[in-house]
Amino acid sequence: DVVVVGSVNADLVVGVERRPGPGETVLGADLATHPGGKGANQAVAAARLGARAALVGRVGDDGHGRLLRAALGAAGVDLAHLATTPGAPTGVALITVGPDGDNSIIVSPGANARVGPADVAAARAAIAAASVVSCQLEVPLPAVAAAARIGAEEGTRVVLNLSPPAPVPDDLLARCDPLVVNEHEAAFLLGRDGPGDPAAMAEALRRRGPRSVVVTLGADGALVAAGPEPVRVPSPRVAAVDTTGAGDAFTAALCLRLARGDALPDAARYAARAGAAAVRAPGAQGSFSAPGDLPGP
Ligand code: ADP
Repeated sequence: DVVVVGSVNADLVVGVERRPGPGETVLGADLATHPGGKGANQAVAAARLGARAALVGRVGDDGHGRLLRAALGAAGVDLAHLATTPGAPTGVALITVGPDGDNSIIVSPGANARVGPADVAAARAAIAAASVVSCQLEVPLPAVAAAARIGAEEGTRVVLNLSPPAPVPDDLLARCDPLVVNEHEAAFLLGRDGPGDPAAMAEALRRRGPRSVVVTLGADGALVAAGPEPVRVPSPRVAAVDTTGAGDAFTAALCLRLARGDALPDAARYAARAGAAAVRAPGAQGSFSAPGDLPGP
């Protein structure tokens, strides 16, 4: 169904009372190590929803790499195109969580920074056989551009999640169907200081060239711009515990339903349920639901 081209990180999480200033040391709580990375998260979320999902990416030849490979394999993700990079550490996210649950994050891309067009080209047959190829921006832009080009050449639908936000060339945007952004990423791409009216942002983004646009709106669901008028899609009401991974779950579910033939608004309705499900539990991969556990529409 879906080939994800993207990042694999170990999330190293420590709770702190306060963050250290320069030259200072503070003691934190026990270290927790969780599988993460936007690419891996999307592949796991899709697999948990029943998709055949493959991941194109890189880990290092180290303990984190082995841990992440095992987590992906246990979730049922096809790892034929997950390479091991000698001499580079696996990507890590160093996360401190303050008393209010606020995160401060440093990402060290490691092996993710070595994902290149050749890795994507080696997966051409898998991309051609899939219905959707899904990318984010935690791997280098040339790899993402190669995925979009190969997707277009092979008739595979290209979905791009502009996360973390970074400038992208127009020919890449033109291949996205849809471009998926949250409000902050939308504002970034439009060169605005902060989010404005979602429908106006979606229309303005569409004029930048993508075939369709989905703007996610947290608890307010999402806005789909594909036809003449933007369509608002609601999110089920849930008790929010931790929004980490919500965007990844949303995009994964969207890709799965598009692969199964849904129209974009219907796929987005399902994706909003998967996104809402992911905020009910802490963390990313541990919060992704099977279809039977999704909150009602
Ligand atoms: P990101 O996580 O990328 O910032 P959003 O916050 O827009 O993206 O969340 C993505 C999707 O997850 C939303 O479209 C929605 O379906 C779901 N979601 C996120 N937060 C909530 C929430 N508090 N309640 C219900 N659904 C949510």
